[in-house]
Amino acid sequence: MKLYNIMEDEVRYAIDKILKTRKNICDCEKCRLDIAAIALNHLPPKYVVTEKGELYERANNLNLQFEADVVKEVAKAIEKVNRKPQHS
Ligand SMILES: [Zn+2]
Repeated sequence: MKLYNIMEDEVRYAIDKILKTRKNICDCEKCRLDIAAIALNHLPPKYVVTEKGELYERANNLNLQFEADVVKEVAKAIEKVNRKPQHS
């Protein structure tokens, strides 16, 4: 069994979704990870216990407020990274 922070998946999902609509923003690996790190530091972790080999399915019980919070933090992180990209 493993401890798993499903907030990481949610943040990655939100980054993909938002970057698809924002053509002027760099989506290299470094920028994506920086965005994820900043957003995750502003969001509470959401841990679940998974069985070995079990794939986490996007929970349908995540409510709209939860998603709105994730999108808001990711959008803020994107602006921050976009203003000062750390990629080389
Ligand atoms: Zn970049």
